[in-house]
Amino acid sequence: MFLGPPGAGKGTQAERLCDELGLAHLATGDLLRAAVADGTDLGREARRYMDAGELVPDEVVIGMIRERLADGASSAFLLDGFPRSVPQAEALDAMLVDLAAALDAVIAIEVGRDELIKRMLGRKRPDDTPETVERRLRVYEDQTRPLFGYYGDRGLLRTVQGEGSVDGVYGSIKAAVPARAG
Ligand code: AMP
Repeated sequence: MFLGPPGAGKGTQAERLCDELGLAHLATGDLLRAAVADGTDLGREARRYMDAGELVPDEVVIGMIRERLADGASSAFLLDGFPRSVPQAEALDAMLVDLAAALDAVIAIEVGRDELIKRMLGRKRPDDTPETVERRLRVYEDQTRPLFGYYGDRGLLRTVQGEGSVDGVYGSIKAAVPARAG
């Protein structure tokens, strides 16, 4: 699992790691953006939250992940952007029990606030306006930060410095992945 604030580079690094290790890449942000682009009911509902920089309701994203994990296609996967709240982490625990699966590692990518703001404003997505960026960072501190304790208490958390070159960060991530993953 990748844990980290918006703008930390989770998506970029996740794609590369999934390619190299043959993992399925499960990114709730990508799944939600696809639903918005397809104009589905779920996409319409999710969009209001995404545009405001808020989290989409837990039951919506939990349902998306449950569906992906239940289809049986992914025996090894990387969760990118999920869970983002304690209720989501608890729901994931229950899903993993059902699958008789376990988390190998939770890799936290840390980037300073100023750098995050610069990166998000540079990528010009609809949910990357100055107001929304502020909101997303606040939501991250309030709702996602508690997961550091949640996974840290279980000895699963590995923190990686996410500033510097993409290759350098990737190297640190690779070093943090336990050998049995993938
Ligand atoms: P991301 O691309 O991961 O930064 O996600 C973009 C937006 O999708 C977020 O700002 C949230 O509005 C929504 N989103 C993505 N993943 C989640 C999640 N696990 N829980 C709630 N909302 C999410």
